[in-house]
Amino acid sequence: MKPRVRFAPSPTGPLHLGGIRTALFNYLFAQSTGGTFVLRIEDTDRSRYHPESEKHIVDSLNWLGIPPDESPTIGGPYGPYRQSQRLDIYKKHIDVLLKDKKAYVAFDTSEELKQLRDKDKSFLYNQSNRKELANSLNPQSIYHKYQNIRSIDDVDVENFVVRLKVNQSRPFEVVDELRGIITVETQTLEDKVLLKRDGWPTYHLADIVDDYLMKTTHVVRGEEWLPSLPIHHVIYDAFGWKAPQFLHLPLLLRPDKKGKISKRDAILNGYPIFALQWEEFAGLKERGYLPHAIINYLALLGWSPPNLSKRNEIFLMDQTIPDFTIDGLQKNPAVVDFDKLKWTNHQHVSGLSPSEILNHFDSFLTELYQTYPPSDVENIISLIKNRIEIGADLVRETHVFIREPQINLNEAQKVYTEHWGAILDYFQSALDFKENASLFKKNIFKWAKSKNIPLRIMMQTLRITIVGQLSGPDLFDIINFVSRDSLIKRVQHTKSITSKIN
Ligand code: GLU
Repeated sequence: MKPRVRFAPSPTGPLHLGGIRTALFNYLFAQSTGGTFVLRIEDTDRSRYHPESEKHIVDSLNWLGIPPDESPTIGGPYGPYRQSQRLDIYKKHIDVLLKDKKAYVAFDTSEELKQLRDKDKSFLYNQSNRKELANSLNPQSIYHKYQNIRSIDDVDVENFVVRLKVNQSRPFEVVDELRGIITVETQTLEDKVLLKRDGWPTYHLADIVDDYLMKTTHVVRGEEWLPSLPIHHVIYDAFGWKAPQFLHLPLLLRPDKKGKISKRDAILNGYPIFALQWEEFAGLKERGYLPHAIINYLALLGWSPPNLSKRNEIFLMDQTIPDFTIDGLQKNPAVVDFDKLKWTNHQHVSGLSPSEILNHFDSFLTELYQTYPPSDVENIISLIKNRIEIGADLVRETHVFIREPQINLNEAQKVYTEHWGAILDYFQSALDFKENASLFKKNIFKWAKSKNIPLRIMMQTLRITIVGQLSGPDLFDIINFVSRDSLIKRVQHTKSITSKIN
């Protein structure tokens, strides 16, 4: 059977880099094996449900180019793919476990459980104490009358939960494809709640029922779910089902390595950790990252292709798919490095043609379009494209073509010589002939030579005047595009600040 994998986010907020990477490895695994990639929305935690979240997840996957084959919107043979639409399925399965005595009903109130936990920090509801608690397995309890029920419909009071009856008495082994065999000590296991007081299933129950019914062959998910693996095996056993293979991806750590990357990083540190805008936080798209650059960067966080070298660190999805095997995955946590992400983006931007840049980043070019005809816009882009790491840099780099710059007085001071005034005067008068670009340039050089002004001095003086600082694209290219009026304004402004720098 071809692999079937799934990405199963809970719609509690925006999709961030950690979730995207999990989705990406599932996508790559499916694509490289001819398998199927399923998106399942796990929305059973109603207290954390966010109504905008599912759309953010779906839009992000589509924009990034890692769309699912089956999903709530696309559909598929094993739908519905939204857990809130499968409640009858979970109920049926809860009833099966009750009937088979693999689960039981419990009536302990939240306050009672809190008191037990406050008294004993390591309290676990399990086989060692369940017979003393408020549930159908306790012969002393009034709830013992429910010991033989065959369905939750047979419980005639409200406010109860269904718990898994974990009766493992010996250590047992579970396998993670990345970490190998893990031995589980039974005293760490709890009679996990499968059906909550509010009548909704817990993550554990719904996730497993769905993976089974949706024919998931490989569960590829974040390492934070590794502690749940033993209980998941117990649930598979309780149903008498064969468990899929499990692989837990290494954690994604924040740049300072203090904990996993989380939604709060966007809020606290301003890191762009979402692909798409979420509430007031601009996403990577809005800052001018390319979807395939983000994918390229994330693919190398926790995975390395065979024979990785600097040269082939930059790749497109189609080149990655044939290379992808789970052997290249690493166990150690991966640290998010935003400089590397920018660098990767820069590599991909440099490979774009000016017209592709216009297509991707038009939102940063509104003013340039207002100032120049489209053919000039494209030519200006080819002058500056190598100076751009992310689309947002276009605002900085096109500024000099659009309006008069602010002069960096420190740099101007360093460049100032006794030739300053003469250069500015000559340049202003020469602007009458600026339309003939090659002659204009030749004349300027000739003039400097005749006045014994070193070329470097002249060019730096003009650069400060026109660009405001010493860096930027070729000066004569800028002069060529900028209007005579604007250049004259720049000369006059430079003259006006001369007293501050000499
Ligand atoms: N709903 C879980 C989450 O939000 C999915 C965990 C899993 O993939 O099993 O991450």
